[in-house]
Amino acid sequence: MARVPTVTGMVEADQLGTTLIHEHLRNSDEAVHNQWPIAGAVKEDKPYEVSPDQVFEIAVREAKAAVDLGIETIGEPTAMFLGRDVEFMRRVSEETGLQVIPCTGIYTYDYLPQFFMNRDPDQIAELFVHDVEQGIQGTDIKAAFIKCAADEPGVNENIEKVHRAAARASVRTGAPIMAHSRPASNTGPRQVEIFLEEGVEPGKIQIAHTGDTDDLDYIEGLLEKGVWIGLDRYGLDIFLPYEKRQQTAKALLERGYADRIFLSADSVATTDWFPPNIIDGLIASGAAHDWNIRMVPERVLPELRDWGLTEEQERTMMVENPVRWLTG
Ligand SMILES: [Zn+2]
Repeated sequence: MARVPTVTGMVEADQLGTTLIHEHLRNSDEAVHNQWPIAGAVKEDKPYEVSPDQVFEIAVREAKAAVDLGIETIGEPTAMFLGRDVEFMRRVSEETGLQVIPCTGIYTYDYLPQFFMNRDPDQIAELFVHDVEQGIQGTDIKAAFIKCAADEPGVNENIEKVHRAAARASVRTGAPIMAHSRPASNTGPRQVEIFLEEGVEPGKIQIAHTGDTDDLDYIEGLLEKGVWIGLDRYGLDIFLPYEKRQQTAKALLERGYADRIFLSADSVATTDWFPPNIIDGLIASGAAHDWNIRMVPERVLPELRDWGLTEEQERTMMVENPVRWLTG
């Protein structure tokens, strides 16, 4: 049996158990955080502004809530620009028993710092390979997968460069790729195309946030390439309402795609992306109602079971797919 890196060490793949593939224990901009340590982090419920100690406590609280609901492992896709900190993840994991699978990569929709503007994809790939083979941020905690992103600006020059770097690091190390996508901007097909051009096996490619659309033609167009898809933003009604997400999941399950799907929420225990008044507005408007790490085990899966999700389909999505994606 292959082994998978977590923030507390390598584990046998069959020990991952029930896994949410896409949940964040913290989300903060590392540059802002470094330059203005006084800048507050923010969470969804009141009080919104929290201290660094509270950021840790809230991550522990959310991770514990997931464990209590039967979740054994999360994929933690917090890469560069989202405030990746594997020591923070390790502390949360040790405190709660939740296994946490870290990543390497760059999370950007467009911008790249001069450091990356002046380097080519192979030079960027070197850094990703280092995290996979040597360890992250001076630790011996190794990255299990490689993250990149495309969003509203599309797959422009900078985004293509990061995708090619991710692909080359994947080919060199065997680590799979998780690519944030934006169906509304039709990014998925081009992202897959770049990975395949670079020689990445389709089974190593996960197109995250595919569930932000209910366009089954778009989704099946990706699935036909042999890649994984994330129905991974349950609770983010701002991109697609909950009921439409569930209808899409059911339609795909009926068409036999349980072995290609991940269910998750893309939750953040805390975030500094928005000031409190914006968070207030998002919650009041229902744009991010019940968006948290508990969403899938507490609501999505029970509803799908009532609808007719079989134990086998559930085991495929929640236990076997993570192993197959991570270990090839
Ligand atoms: Zn995410």
